[in-house]
Amino acid sequence: MSLKKDRASNTSPLTFTDVFVPVENLVGGVPGQGLKQANSVFGYTRLMVAAMAIGAGEAALSIAIPYAKDRIQFGSPLSEKQGYTHKLIVPHIVRFEAASSYLDEVALRIDAGDTDLQVEGAIAKLFASETANRAAEDAIQALGGYGYITEFGVEKIKRDVRITCIYEGTSEILQNIIGMFRWKKTWKTKGAFYRSIAEEMTALHQKNDQAGCQYYGLAAEALNRTILLAHENRLTRSQHVMFCLADMMTHVEIGASLGRKAADLGSSRDPQIQKVQAAARIFAAEVAQLVYQNMLKILLGNGMFTSETFSGFLESISCRQLPFACANTVQDMDRICELVFENKK
Ligand SMILES: Cc1cc2nc3c(=O)[nH]c(=O)nc-3n(C[C@H](O)[C@H](O)[C@H](O)COP(=O)(O)OP(=O)(O)OC[C@H]3O[C@@H](n4cnc5c(N)ncnc54)[C@H](O)[C@@H]3O)c2cc1C
Repeated sequence: MSLKKDRASNTSPLTFTDVFVPVENLVGGVPGQGLKQANSVFGYTRLMVAAMAIGAGEAALSIAIPYAKDRIQFGSPLSEKQGYTHKLIVPHIVRFEAASSYLDEVALRIDAGDTDLQVEGAIAKLFASETANRAAEDAIQALGGYGYITEFGVEKIKRDVRITCIYEGTSEILQNIIGMFRWKKTWKTKGAFYRSIAEEMTALHQKNDQAGCQYYGLAAEALNRTILLAHENRLTRSQHVMFCLADMMTHVEIGASLGRKAADLGSSRDPQIQKVQAAARIFAAEVAQLVYQNMLKILLGNGMFTSETFSGFLESISCRQLPFACANTVQDMDRICELVFENKK
């Protein structure tokens, strides 16, 4: 089979007309329980699709990275141009680090016998598939004209990875699931679920201040307050609000996982450890920005605050600190480039 031309997933229609299925052949064996049975497998089947997406996205980057080192434009390799690396390559390396960290955590829980992981499966698949799809798209751009034609194979990866945002639950259905289940969990626990993540991140920051954990903590607290306010004011009736919340929840939970991993690596000059910690700080900035922006969309977008009362609200959740998650992220991106492209300083 030629990998460049053939489809990775052959798909064809199946038509059933007047088919009789005897009751002993009922899939799952118990009438009326189909949806429940299907839902119970999504914790691991969606994790499998997430893993597949990460593999495809990383494969696209593994083609773009050597290309960028070899391709000389305007007197120097593309890998030495920040406008190229910090736009088309580094953000994806960072997000794959975050996605892999979350995937590993959930996989370990499955191996330990946890069967109630439907939301975690949805979070893993939503984030990994959307990340991989964007990475494959940017890998095409990173190869210029060669990205669009078949020779280097990135356009094939893009076409194949695109399905991961659609099957096994579309991204929008996953946003529905994440928003609904985590909203219920938040008000049932009176905010304890995300508060415990915020407290855990704050404690981790005391142990290791190289992993961006203080910002993951602030973002978790801001998310918590936004969910509770949206609930009290019945904004959760709006699907747009629920999708904004789902994206905040996804980023906070994935970020907390990367924060844990990076903090546990301790303090070291090992380049690979420094890469994970730089990725954790960069991703903390992304999480902080998304949480802040979606909070504005939800609370100001629904006319809940005047400018005076909104300032007071921001103050009450230490939100003024969130933008500082961006501090030194350009240097962190430079550092990741040095390691990935072996660029000399
Ligand atoms: C290559 C391939 C392989 C497949 N393999 C399998 C398989 O092995 N097993 C299997 O069972 N299925 C399989 N499918 C089917 C796949 O799971 C469905 O195509 C997918 O779930 C989307 O359903 P749909 O096509 O009916 O789209 P629709 O449900 O019509 O959705 C269209 C759009 O509307 C959005 N949308 C739908 N409902 C809502 C809502 N409530 N709120 C907001 N937005 C919404 C969707 O997210 C999507 O963007 C496969 C499909 C393909 C293309």
